[in-house]
Amino acid sequence: MGRRSEWDVAIIGGGHNGLVCAFYLARAGLRVVVLERRGTVGGAAVTEEFHPGFRNSVASYTVSLLQPKIIADLKLHEQGLHIVHRRMANFLPLPDGRYLAVGEGRTRDEVAKFSTRDAGRLDAYQERLGAVSDLVRGLMLETPPNVTQSGFWTALPEILKAGRLARRLGGLDPAAQRDLLALLGRSAGDYLDDWFESDPIKAVYGFDGIVGNYASPYTPGSGYVLLHHLLGEVNGKRGAWGHAIGGMGAITQAMAKACTAEGVDIRVHAPVAEVLVERGRAVGVVCENGDTVRARAVISNLNPKLLFQKLVDPALLPQDFRTRIDSYRMGSGTFRMNVALSELPRFTCLPDAGDYLTAGIIIAPSLTYMDRAFTDARAKGWSDNPVVEMLIPSTLDDTLAPEGAHVASLFCQHVAPRLPNGASWDDHREKVADLMIATVDRYAPGFAASVIGRQVLSPQDLERVFGLTSGDIMHGRLELDQLFSARPVLGHGDYRMPLTGLYICGSGTHPGGGVTGAPGHNAAREVLRDLKSR
Ligand SMILES: Cc1cc2nc3c(=O)[nH]c(=O)nc-3n(C[C@H](O)[C@H](O)[C@H](O)COP(=O)(O)OP(=O)(O)OC[C@H]3O[C@@H](n4cnc5c(N)ncnc54)[C@H](O)[C@@H]3O)c2cc1C
Repeated sequence: MGRRSEWDVAIIGGGHNGLVCAFYLARAGLRVVVLERRGTVGGAAVTEEFHPGFRNSVASYTVSLLQPKIIADLKLHEQGLHIVHRRMANFLPLPDGRYLAVGEGRTRDEVAKFSTRDAGRLDAYQERLGAVSDLVRGLMLETPPNVTQSGFWTALPEILKAGRLARRLGGLDPAAQRDLLALLGRSAGDYLDDWFESDPIKAVYGFDGIVGNYASPYTPGSGYVLLHHLLGEVNGKRGAWGHAIGGMGAITQAMAKACTAEGVDIRVHAPVAEVLVERGRAVGVVCENGDTVRARAVISNLNPKLLFQKLVDPALLPQDFRTRIDSYRMGSGTFRMNVALSELPRFTCLPDAGDYLTAGIIIAPSLTYMDRAFTDARAKGWSDNPVVEMLIPSTLDDTLAPEGAHVASLFCQHVAPRLPNGASWDDHREKVADLMIATVDRYAPGFAASVIGRQVLSPQDLERVFGLTSGDIMHGRLELDQLFSARPVLGHGDYRMPLTGLYICGSGTHPGGGVTGAPGHNAAREVLRDLKSR
């Protein structure tokens, strides 16, 4: 017989969104418990030692999307968070021995090495995308208008919200309106082909369109994924990506401290087995150890598929909702490695150490290369010429590796979330890890020999370790019919699920994936509204 406890709010999962949600609710005076399955909170934003003396962000590894309001409200800087800038944004080594270096003050000259026409178009490109991303960024902390079939009085606030949104859209100049439409409907590749003629700059920008997105850069809709990766900022610098000293776990540990200071009870090693439902209402959860936690509101930080396929009795859900959750699309083509390095890599195209070693180093010289990698992965599970982004955070942070040694994150794209013919990633993980290292070694000979330890996470491992169904890093594909009011499904874009008292606060709700904190922030606002009005 398990123990019983009573709370205002029970949160299933202590990912960063669960923590953000818990903070706001506790700050409003509610008694909140967070139940996390793993031995540490943070979900996909954690730092762990993966080789003796070497620590790194295990999954997510670079910060930008985390909302400034959340940093301020949770006083994350006071809790110890320190985010630093990369000294260069991106570096693209090329097979012919040349390279493209992208970052403030150098992009124009660098692009001019390949096309003076493209160099001349950079400012206009940034300006146009900037206008669109400012608009979308402004929606991140808002609850989308919900599509409702209830009566007029329920619909009225949603209609007003939609009206306000239409007014903001109308405020964009016509060129930006066209861009917004193009980015939502077209491919990143088509969009970039309209702007530029040279491959390297299209590859650097286009990489954002395939991150966590198992798709060709020419797949319609990848334009939005590109935009999504531009919605953040680092210490006020829009669109930039940076590094949290101590890795991504430093963000979530600071969040956990903020929660504890507000009285949140955080329990680890506390997997939830089931959402408890009585008379059509979620009234608590049952943990795997048999404990019952009763609460006025139950909030899930899990991806929607995991929640509704594993933790809620299907018989208690409307049939139509179940069908739509079953067809909710999940699956990133992401293969994630952490490597311990005895020395820094030396790239053939630029052998001396420099700022470029703090950059996101992209091995994927063109959009065509990325397209081919995707096609290969569809056919056989991965490509012999895979897409690898490497970041070496120890060039910015001396807390991660012993003196003189380094750690690198390899964020490899375009492996199949599920292998063809029912093959298991467990049988192919090490071989594919060798391939990823060999791919870097082709551009930086000696790299393979410098690897003295490694951690390898296939899509299957990402599911096993973090509960990310089909290895989906965003809790669901970022496609038009799964965005904004339609995330996770139309009619439930306001964080409320079809069982009264049940909410979602994770990346499977607006505004989607990434270490943003926004879904947690927004869900807390809606839960507070409901609990107050009762
Ligand atoms: C490999 C990888 C690389 C990424 N890189 C970046 C990046 O560089 N920058 C960026 O901004 N974003 C990145 N992302 C995306 C980002 O990390 C995620 O979108 C985000 O962390 C998800 O946060 P969340 O709080 O919504 O959910 P999660 O982090 O998924 O948290 C859900 C929590 O629920 C817990 N849980 C699951 N089942 C149960 C259960 N039954 N009972 C109790 N608890 C349970 C899980 O253990 C987990 O802690 C990356 C993701 C991955 C996987």
